[in-house]
Amino acid sequence: MIPSGFDLTGRTALIAGASSGLGEGFARLLAAAGARVVLGARRVELVEGIAAGLRGAGYQALGVSLDITSESSVIAAFDRGEQEYGTVDTVIANAGVGSGGRSTELTYEDLRRTVDTNLIGTYLVAREAARRMIDGGSRESETGRILFIGSIAALQNHTGDASYAASKAGIAHLTRQFAKEWARQGINVNLIHPGWIETPINAGFSASERGLQDIAALPRKRLQEPSSLDDMVLFLCSDRSRQITGAVFTLDDGQSL
Ligand code: NAD
Repeated sequence: MIPSGFDLTGRTALIAGASSGLGEGFARLLAAAGARVVLGARRVELVEGIAAGLRGAGYQALGVSLDITSESSVIAAFDRGEQEYGTVDTVIANAGVGSGGRSTELTYEDLRRTVDTNLIGTYLVAREAARRMIDGGSRESETGRILFIGSIAALQNHTGDASYAASKAGIAHLTRQFAKEWARQGINVNLIHPGWIETPINAGFSASERGLQDIAALPRKRLQEPSSLDDMVLFLCSDRSRQITGAVFTLDDGQSL
């Protein structure tokens, strides 16, 4: 049951990195809230399967091929979504990759992959979204919504995730930068920094010896549940957040305290 005002009927949302984890959950959430959802990922057979399941449940969903590190792939994914459902007015730029290891040992390839995906790829998705929202009349309708998914890694200093943390900190700056740049274009740009949630990005780590130690050191000694993000995600995609832009929300069950 979606609370009134959080209904997304009539909206078209594209979720980048919707083949697994949080992105898949966001796609299901937005579909259930009434939006037409475009699920983008490199593993197109996965997003096509999830979309088919959603259509079977009576929702409107489309799986598209999307590699956010490729400008032409980003453009093609928006083209495909637009062809099916009209202008994309809501985007969750969720796709991301992790990286680990001491900075002195990180390979050039790993560094590039992290920054190309998390920072440049996220930029490409937001830029394409904004261009199309503006062409679609967002200035008048004030319906443009871009939601970035950062990480509490952007707020902390840990040994072993410098490139990931820096790429996520970059997204936080892009949030404010784009929010100001597009403020008069009717596009709101906001950011959620989630805490540590068990998904494929950290598969296996939480059960490892180091993982268990890290969990025991968290204020509540537990991982965050993915559903703890849902209400804020819906709010930030809805009409109710019309006057919220450039905002950064740390939703982490207190993990970064
Ligand atoms: P995940 O690995 O399940 O999801 C990441 C998604 O991004 C996957 O679907 C992956 O295929 C996709 N992706 C990666 N590179 C891509 C590319 N070039 N083009 C298109 N899609 C690409 O992990 P997740 O935890 O669901 O991660 C989702 C987001 O949440 C990421 O940005 C991650 O950094 C962030 N995050 C996760 C946690 C956590 O603890 N799980 C915490 C903070 C932030």
